[in-house]
Amino acid sequence: MNPSVALQEFINTHLATVEPLSRETALANWEMQTTSSDAVREKVTDLNTRFARIYADPDDYAFLKSLDAEAIDSPTLARQHLLLLNAYLENQIPAELMEKTIALTVEIEDSFNIFRGVIDGETISDNAIEKILDESRDVTLRKQAWEASKQVGQEVSERVLELVRMRNQAATTLGYENYYVMSLQMQELTEERLFQQLDDLAEKSEDLWNAFRDELDEHLALRFNTTPDAIRPWHHHNRFFQSPEPGNANLDRFFADKDLESVAADFFRAIGLPIEELLAKADLYEREGKCQHAFCMDVDRKGDVRVLCNLQSNERWASTLLHEYGHAVYDKYTDHSLPYLLRTPAHIMTTEAIALFMGRLTKSADWLNIYAGVDKAEAERITVDALQEVRNQLLVFMRWCLVMSYFEREMYRNPEQDLNTVWWDIVERFQRVKRPDGRNTPDWASKIHLATAPTYYHNYQLGEMIASQLLNYLHKAVLNGEPSSALVTSPKVGAWLTEKVFYPGALYPWEEWLEFATGEPLNPAYFVADLGER
Ligand SMILES: [Zn+2]
Repeated sequence: MNPSVALQEFINTHLATVEPLSRETALANWEMQTTSSDAVREKVTDLNTRFARIYADPDDYAFLKSLDAEAIDSPTLARQHLLLLNAYLENQIPAELMEKTIALTVEIEDSFNIFRGVIDGETISDNAIEKILDESRDVTLRKQAWEASKQVGQEVSERVLELVRMRNQAATTLGYENYYVMSLQMQELTEERLFQQLDDLAEKSEDLWNAFRDELDEHLALRFNTTPDAIRPWHHHNRFFQSPEPGNANLDRFFADKDLESVAADFFRAIGLPIEELLAKADLYEREGKCQHAFCMDVDRKGDVRVLCNLQSNERWASTLLHEYGHAVYDKYTDHSLPYLLRTPAHIMTTEAIALFMGRLTKSADWLNIYAGVDKAEAERITVDALQEVRNQLLVFMRWCLVMSYFEREMYRNPEQDLNTVWWDIVERFQRVKRPDGRNTPDWASKIHLATAPTYYHNYQLGEMIASQLLNYLHKAVLNGEPSSALVTSPKVGAWLTEKVFYPGALYPWEEWLEFATGEPLNPAYFVADLGER
């Protein structure tokens, strides 16, 4: 049989099962993230297992491998063939191992959702911890809050390590060095090129970073009446130091009495990507037993896109809301006539790029003026400070992405090494955050991504680099000659994003997609330029 015809028949049969099962799994997962119960956790485990079993089928995999890729005449079919091969390859592992891995992942995720840190016998939410680190001058309390934020690491670390070993075992079964290496390849990345890029960023930002950190240490020492030498993790504004403290523009004040939902709706409507329909399906406010993070989920690749947040009226959550709706508009405005397997973002980093692009806007004077009701004179007055805040954000988050990426690579290279020490070595190297004296606890495990979103974090940094490239292209080519505010008000932005960025779905590998959108492959120079100078 003609390989194209045979492949199309295979896909039709495959999707008859996968499409409804995928939707059911997403809905169960949504239920688990919004209401924790043993029943729903079991359901998610069961559905994930059924899903993985489909891709574990050795006969189907053999059939896909037997097809001559060169002889598949349609590029659309050839792309689906490649994506299917990757999806099947990852799952060609012993059934027992696969099932144990899935059950443990779900269990750990649920532990993160339920767990609340404890200070003096009282439980405390993540938002309350952030508030202390944001505002308190009481160093003892700050230290307690920071320590409370790490307790979840002690709760889950043994299980995370178990999971890492199982993932590695699966990868070595398939002939890879370890899970991290395999997983990068499935993402159409190589370890070599990725770490070349990251090394390069570390080097290019070193002077800027050291100047920023020296200044910050002095500033913190002054505030907490100590010496720069004595600054420890709890003096920083964020429990991971993944974002800088608010700058002189004091942006939180603009969000104190705002209905963030309607602010976001106004903005997305103006650029031609309305989200009202999606806001109605979202779960946006804090609750016991609910996931404390934020995410966006495409339930059916047909428009049922849901966002989860724990909104507070401040700049961080306003930015997070725009971030998640960046993902959501990508999903919503992908060409829904594409084949199901391609009706998804080109890559994790491309959807992160759009999310990060949107998330930066709460620090844009134009955006604040138009959507957060900041009057024009005030917006002009804070322009420079707000720009500095974006730069600090990019810089601090980049250094944090380096920590996560280098640590994750080490963790999969050898999970038996002294990871508590490795973690603090890497944190000191890239973030210049000093380890607390005598501390030997699995602080790394308090970052949920290492357990539930493995081999993911570098995509945020690549996403920032793509965001800078897209922004540059928008200004230079799409909004050429228009005032700067056009970026946040012009329907041309939504039209261009839809046509060039969202619409192609996963039709091209990510770097071809980027060339299609901006005319060139990944060029880190735009991101480096966005870091500014000091
Ligand atoms: Zn995101």
